[in-house]
Amino acid sequence: MSIQEQYRKKAAELLSSGDVKLVIGYGAGTNPDRRRPLFIRSAEAASNLLIDADCDANLSGYLVNEGLLSDKKKVGIFLAPEGIRSVNILASESQLDPDQIVIFGFERDGRSIAALEGSNVRDYTDRIATLKSMPPDAEEQARIDMIENMSAEERFAFWQAEFSKCIKCYACRQVCPMCYCKRCIVDNNQPQWVHTSSHTLGNFEWNLVRAFHLSGRCVECGGCDRACPVNIPLRLINRKMAAEVLDAFDHFSGMSPDQETVLANFRKDDPETFIL
Ligand code: SF4
Ligand code: SF4
Repeated sequence: MSIQEQYRKKAAELLSSGDVKLVIGYGAGTNPDRRRPLFIRSAEAASNLLIDADCDANLSGYLVNEGLLSDKKKVGIFLAPEGIRSVNILASESQLDPDQIVIFGFERDGRSIAALEGSNVRDYTDRIATLKSMPPDAEEQARIDMIENMSAEERFAFWQAEFSKCIKCYACRQVCPMCYCKRCIVDNNQPQWVHTSSHTLGNFEWNLVRAFHLSGRCVECGGCDRACPVNIPLRLINRKMAAEVLDAFDHFSGMSPDQETVLANFRKDDPETFIL
């Protein structure tokens, strides 16, 4: 049985039995190469689920939609390893109960796709641990080396040129499962911490604040990079910050739902007054 048939069957069974109230997966997109998030609430609708190498979006951000998990019922979700890491981070930051999440795990190898065994986030701990020592691919490493080999002035000029393209659309924030704050610092204008207009200072403020906010939390799913309409190489920043955090703290984000946070701590009773 193909992974698609297997996961359609599993989704239909879980929905019929009431073990999950919803399955978040992928469906057909606007063209043959694109997939869009699909929210399935009945066994009959499970036949619309697709799973293939074009399923590249990290769907975990939908789990923290307001009220989705408040009734304590379980939700199924299609996740690649980076998405499973996101669920671990959301759990460690008290944003969800990992036992409420039923995972339909999969991984890509080029254009092929395979199912991952397990359904609870803890079933994937060993698989995620193997990613910690996995080096970037050759193309990505070459781009990292290019940045590393620049002088400080050249690097500043490189990022200044890249950030000058930013139009402050915040697509990178919207797509990111780790950007779940109900109110973002950039949406606040009393006081205005980050300039909203697209000029050099404001663009540096936004992109650097975001890079530090994601340090030790980014799972390198590439969602922001794909979403950026002006092709700023956001993956490069995230990769570099992840490497720094690994080197300095031996911290690989999203290893388990009980992992300690590395640079910031979020509690259920955080009043969020820091951005008021
Ligand atoms: S910062 Fe980008 S790559 Fe990292 S988790 Fe968010 S969307 Fe994914
Ligand atoms: S998606 Fe790109 S253009 Fe939009 S705010 Fe983010 S970095 Fe700027």
